[in-house]
Amino acid sequence: MKKIALHWQIIIGLILGIVWALLSSTLGWSQFTIDWIAPFGKIFINLLKLIAVPLVLFSIINGVSSIGDPKSLGRMGGKTLAAYLVTTVIAVSLGLLLVNLIKPGKLIDEQSRIDNRIGYEVWAADNNVEIKDGINYLQDPEFMERAQRITDLSRSELADASVSEKMQTANKTKSSGPLQPLVDIVPENFFASLADNGLMLQVIFFGLFFGIALLFIPVAKSGPVMKAVDGIMEVFLKMVDLIMKAAPFFVFALLAGVVSQMAGDDVGKVVEIFKGLSWYSLTVFLGLAIMIFLFYPLLFKLFVRAVSYLGFFKAMGPAQTLAFSTSSSAATLPVTLECVEDNLGVDKKITSFVLPIGATINMDGTCLYQAVAVVFLAQIHMIDLTLGQQLTIVLTATLASIGTAAVPSAGLVMLIIVMESVSLNPAWIAIIFPVDRILDMCRTVVNVTGDATVSSIIAKSEGMMNYNPNKDPDEAWEVDEK
Ligand code: ASP
Repeated sequence: MKKIALHWQIIIGLILGIVWALLSSTLGWSQFTIDWIAPFGKIFINLLKLIAVPLVLFSIINGVSSIGDPKSLGRMGGKTLAAYLVTTVIAVSLGLLLVNLIKPGKLIDEQSRIDNRIGYEVWAADNNVEIKDGINYLQDPEFMERAQRITDLSRSELADASVSEKMQTANKTKSSGPLQPLVDIVPENFFASLADNGLMLQVIFFGLFFGIALLFIPVAKSGPVMKAVDGIMEVFLKMVDLIMKAAPFFVFALLAGVVSQMAGDDVGKVVEIFKGLSWYSLTVFLGLAIMIFLFYPLLFKLFVRAVSYLGFFKAMGPAQTLAFSTSSSAATLPVTLECVEDNLGVDKKITSFVLPIGATINMDGTCLYQAVAVVFLAQIHMIDLTLGQQLTIVLTATLASIGTAAVPSAGLVMLIIVMESVSLNPAWIAIIFPVDRILDMCRTVVNVTGDATVSSIIAKSEGMMNYNPNKDPDEAWEVDEK
């Protein structure tokens, strides 16, 4: 019997997980699913993350030291950063274009938008925030009574525990000087960086530094270190292969847990949640779909050529389905590395350097979503963002996506900073919070696909890509004993 390809197995696990969750919620078994099935999903993410941090370290050291000379390293580093920046800016701009064309926020009824607007004006007055579009409903006595009711409402939004927790995290990020992000990249204790999953940039910094230093010592001394690093990396990648054997089951558990948590014992709730935010969600989905199905394949056609449209998705399938299930580019990184290396034929020198950096700083899906979310929230509050404010969104969303940790919901936290940059009330993230998980799953697929595309382009430009269209993508996960 022909074996079903791994990405199809994962998709089947994913669908079964959703079906199970909906069924168990209809039958009132959600708690059972949360207690007895969901933990396996957590174990899966833990296993992948367990590998991701050391893999990033060894992979960067391996990549940098095997590139050989600091000059080529500098050239490739420059190209990598430039390519990541360009794709990010294109993604934010696409998000802005779509949300301004579709105007999902304006499809909400006029009365609620006026209420929202008053709420915004009250908040702006309370917080000394300048209203840029020059409209002021509060001056109209007819609106005063409504204003009172709405003030109470927006206070209760702020009190929402999950939102205020996210605001605190964002405030911590914000309340530092302009060079703080740079300072944060340099660790004072490397073992502390390893211990904290959020400090991936510090791990990358150490890896780069260590790898570069290796280039400057005599081969007699650096050779054994490089060999050891290479060997250790192979062990980690084999661990990934072993985990991937059980990926379809783990993905089933993960999805069953996520959907059960959303639905509780009332399936109708999920439908309701989506109805109210359907146009917003559709705008984000559309943008992400354009990135995945048009933009990246177009880049492939222009700069890589060799890989066919379907061949690209076949090669990347396991990483994409996993990104969708885990909502974490970091947890998906070990699998992304294998897909790009084994299935797209990108040289290890490139993947081990470009992909870990990409997983950490390049988030096209996240910044596209942030652009849509900010403008949507402004629209439902009847606020017209000026061109200057929209350009500010491009800038802050780009920077925010660099600073976003590659874990679930991190994009939502950084959204607070983007909102504040254009004088909007960050507590509004509560409005889009209910649909965030599903959007997170989709934007993570874009984040991962973007990294893979850029690394293929860099590899092609350096003559380090050797794609074989006839290769079976599932060979990457063979676990053969040596
Ligand atoms: N979950 C995303 C990632 O890991 C980040 C985000 O947008 O929340 O790539």
